Amino acid sequence: MKRIGVLTSGGDAPGMNAAVRAVVRKGIYHGLEVYGIYHGYQGLMEGKIKKMDVGSVGDIIQRGGTILQTARSEEFKTPEGQKKAIQRLEEFGIEGLVVIGGDGSFRGAQKLSHQGIKTIGIPGTIDNDIAFTDFTIGFDTAINTVIQAIDKIRDTATSHERTFVIEVMGRDAGDIALWAGLAGGAESIIIPEDPFNMDEIVDRLLKAKERGKKHSIIVIAEGVMSGVEFAKKIQALTGFETRASVLGHIQRGGSPTVFDRVLASRLGGYAVELLLEGVTGHMVGIQSNRLIHEDFDIALAQSHRVDPGMVQLAKEISL
Ligand code: ADP
Repeated sequence: MKRIGVLTSGGDAPGMNAAVRAVVRKGIYHGLEVYGIYHGYQGLMEGKIKKMDVGSVGDIIQRGGTILQTARSEEFKTPEGQKKAIQRLEEFGIEGLVVIGGDGSFRGAQKLSHQGIKTIGIPGTIDNDIAFTDFTIGFDTAINTVIQAIDKIRDTATSHERTFVIEVMGRDAGDIALWAGLAGGAESIIIPEDPFNMDEIVDRLLKAKERGKKHSIIVIAEGVMSGVEFAKKIQALTGFETRASVLGHIQRGGSPTVFDRVLASRLGGYAVELLLEGVTGHMVGIQSNRLIHEDFDIALAQSHRVDPGMVQLAKEISL
């Protein structure tokens, strides 16, 4: 293998740049030519491809977002779109492709791999919703952003003796809500994977008030219900003044944490090693601090599960 390509796809996540940097530098270290593909699969089909050198990924490890830009492409989901992409790779002589993204991006890489293109996927998504890896790139930064917001909201909640509902990202996945809720001392954490009981939540709030608690914080994942709607229900059922705060896209941005930079660097380097060993159609991940790889066909057939022990712990110690 002489020439490889790297792209970022789907939702952006802090730490993607650190992964791109690692792929480029590790590739060059091993004598490969590395090409950056801009705007994900859409850019691949359109031939937005540029040779990267060591300096082209300088000064990006600390930056959020992705210098390669990202995109979503409906066309790429079609066999014709994939054919175009493969033609472009052949035109540029790119023999191996590293795809940094979420499970949708992995499905795209899986399709290419089934058609003979050597691909490796690196999990980059703030949602931490990919099976076979304990963590995805961007999750740690996102929960640190959420925790900063929760700590600030707590100050005003205490001053005004209010209940706050904080809506965080996670359409189908509750990890952001669960980790940030646990770390932020939320009274209730509501996630898509664990159906909530309104009577229990209201009872908890009333008991906390009786104990003299001055504020309450509820963290809800966006996939369950809108935070605004949930706050209205809480206010109607408890009579407590309740406010909603929707954190939104700030959760995607910002300088990646040390954890995300190191994770991204390790996974990026490992992806290149695997391509050089001839591994294809696999994702890389981290399990118990060890780098692993797993076939897309197996990995994508499973979904990431929240840790039931953490869900239970949150219920037991959040009062
Ligand atoms: P993420 O990678 O963050 O989950 P998406 O689900 O939007 O984001 O996927 C990113 C892109 O990957 C899509 O816009 C599409 O081009 C490609 N993709 C997603 N699913 C498939 C699929 N089943 N087959 C081929 N390509 C896909």
